[in-house]
Amino acid sequence: MRVFNFAAGPATMPLEVLEQARDELIDWHGSGMSVMEISHRSKAFLAAAGEAEIRLRELLTVPRGYRVLFLQGGATGQFAAVPMNLAPAQASADYLNTGAWSKRAISEAQRFVKVNVAADEAPSKYTTVPAPGALRLSTGAAYVHYTANETIGGVEFPYVPDSAAVPLVADMSSNILSRPVPVEKFGVIYAGAQKNIGPAGLVLVIVRDDLLDRARPGTPAVWNYEAMAAEDSMLNTPPTFALYVAGLIFKWLQQQGGLPVVAALNEAKAQLLYGAIDGSDLYRNPVAPACRSRMNVPFTLVKSELEHAFLAEARAAGLVNLEGHRLVGGMRASLYNAMPLAGVEALVSFMRDFERRHG
Ligand SMILES: *Cc1c(COP(=O)(O)O)cnc(C)c1O
Repeated sequence: MRVFNFAAGPATMPLEVLEQARDELIDWHGSGMSVMEISHRSKAFLAAAGEAEIRLRELLTVPRGYRVLFLQGGATGQFAAVPMNLAPAQASADYLNTGAWSKRAISEAQRFVKVNVAADEAPSKYTTVPAPGALRLSTGAAYVHYTANETIGGVEFPYVPDSAAVPLVADMSSNILSRPVPVEKFGVIYAGAQKNIGPAGLVLVIVRDDLLDRARPGTPAVWNYEAMAAEDSMLNTPPTFALYVAGLIFKWLQQQGGLPVVAALNEAKAQLLYGAIDGSDLYRNPVAPACRSRMNVPFTLVKSELEHAFLAEARAAGLVNLEGHRLVGGMRASLYNAMPLAGVEALVSFMRDFERRHG
């Protein structure tokens, strides 16, 4: 029996995609082998990988002049790869600090560049994003980095920061493909796969061509954007199964009607849950309404002693993985693309019922 899985990542995937992967697992496209058992350099696999890239480009309307790379090492690997690829040693970079993932990106970057924290939302306990005009960007920064959606804190930028002529870099791990994005405003976009793209083990990097030749000496080849671009992300063996499933997800997203349709559904899901939280006496979300995440909704119970019962009863009702991140506690419901509206409706009706019985 399938449950509604609200995990933050690895996260729920569309049932249709899982069924297709199951159906063709043993004998992929008449090859007599699974997709995991064939060469990444075979014609069939190269065709699937190429198709995945084309679909991703269509979904995000990636302009010409950008490379799409599928790498390994997760978003955490990119925390190091970004400074290695974009900044010479001794250079500085601007970082916006909006929460746990920003902090991780900053501390890793500090091993490679001088980090200027151009906005710090610590005073609001990370329940806000900086106002567009409040960024203290430095002169001479190699790039400006921000976390488009804070998966743990549940804070999402409702706008794209203006970095003027300086390359803008975004960690979109937890909101990539959740709505259209003006890719042309970015130097680099990266996203780990296990939230909204597919299985863990893959990280998507979209990089503007003119940034491909800046890697510092010593950058490992597998994280060198130019070296990887030259080999179509196959300088070494890619995570073939993850890439194949990502391709199925991209196709599924196109079948849903593409990102404008998906975005409207995500908006409806988020409104439904935030509305239920705000309309109750038991549940609270601390994030400023203008920058509440549509993907990750943390909430607490005013009677925190009920948390254990809430989670246990939710689990019994087929609503799983609602515990908050181990760093912050409380609850968190992740509403990625693959979470159907019916899942959020079931959660909201459970929450109302729980409040009636325990509130
Ligand atoms: C999950 C996540 C990461 C870390 O991803 P890994 O693939 O585990 O390295 C980084 N940034 C954000 C915003 C995330 O949600």
